[in-house]
Amino acid sequence: MSTVIVSGGAGFLGRHLCEILLKKDMEVLCIDNFISGSKNNVREFISYPNFELIRHDIINPLFLEANKIYHLACPASPVQYQNNAIKTVKTNVIGTINMLGLAKRTKARILLTSTSEIYGNPIVHPQVEEYYGNVNPIGIRSCYDEGKRIAETLTMDYHRMNKVDVKIVRIFNTYGPYMAVDDGRVVSNFIIQALSGKDLTVYGDGNQTRSFCYVTDLINGLMKMMEKEDFIGPVNLGNPEEYTILELAQKILKLTKSTSKIIYKPIPKDDPVRRCPDISLAQKRLGWQPQVGLEEGLNKTIAFFKTKL
Ligand code: UDP
Repeated sequence: MSTVIVSGGAGFLGRHLCEILLKKDMEVLCIDNFISGSKNNVREFISYPNFELIRHDIINPLFLEANKIYHLACPASPVQYQNNAIKTVKTNVIGTINMLGLAKRTKARILLTSTSEIYGNPIVHPQVEEYYGNVNPIGIRSCYDEGKRIAETLTMDYHRMNKVDVKIVRIFNTYGPYMAVDDGRVVSNFIIQALSGKDLTVYGDGNQTRSFCYVTDLINGLMKMMEKEDFIGPVNLGNPEEYTILELAQKILKLTKSTSKIIYKPIPKDDPVRRCPDISLAQKRLGWQPQVGLEEGLNKTIAFFKTKL
């Protein structure tokens, strides 16, 4: 039986990944320090014989045996990572070294979940994997952007120097059930505001764009990448349908039938103006592309948050 480590397994993406791996009868070792993940996310798995929940902060070394490692651990919401900026850097640098060291010792294949944030405020649009990005090294987003950039560097150096079997995926904005109510990212914020009759807080003029991938599509892409031979990446995974934040707010108001208003707040520093993945590489090498459209995914996410409020 295959043993799979999921770092950050009790987070939003980790929880969905653990669920599918468990259904496939894998032995799942879920590691989390619960900074942004939650025990509640994985509570239903605790009675499964093939699931283990380990409270551990990956900035400390860990000694486990595994065949595969999904390295997800790191706060991903700007609110969360900016509240824990130094911890975010340590997780991406020391934590990634520890996970790569574990992969080296056990000869496990390791998949790093990097991010579209490594493109910064992109000048190339849509973003292709060859683009090196436009990142502020000293800004409030740098702990995450630069943290993930060095995590990619470390991953490639462990591959070149120690022949570790590595994979790099760059994840674009993803949403769906099991996002935390206090996550702070735009989709969950707007849905919660709309459902509770509060004003929807659009930052800036709302003309900045993002491209939103439903969580099951994303997890499917991660697993395809893990199983793919002779392909290190980096590869973009995301939904190439691009929306302005104002369009997203209007769509959520319509789907929730909310009478909430839209209000405008100052745009946070270094907020990227445009973001949209070029997914040709994922289509070609993984035969992957998103299946769930924005309205369908939002409806499922709205149904989830209705049970939470
Ligand atoms: N945003 C917004 N209102 C919110 C939260 C976010 O207008 O309540 C905007 C934010 O300024 C950014 C976009 O939505 O332009 C996406 O933000 P998010 O925090 O979800 O992720 P990012 O893509 O910036 O990492």
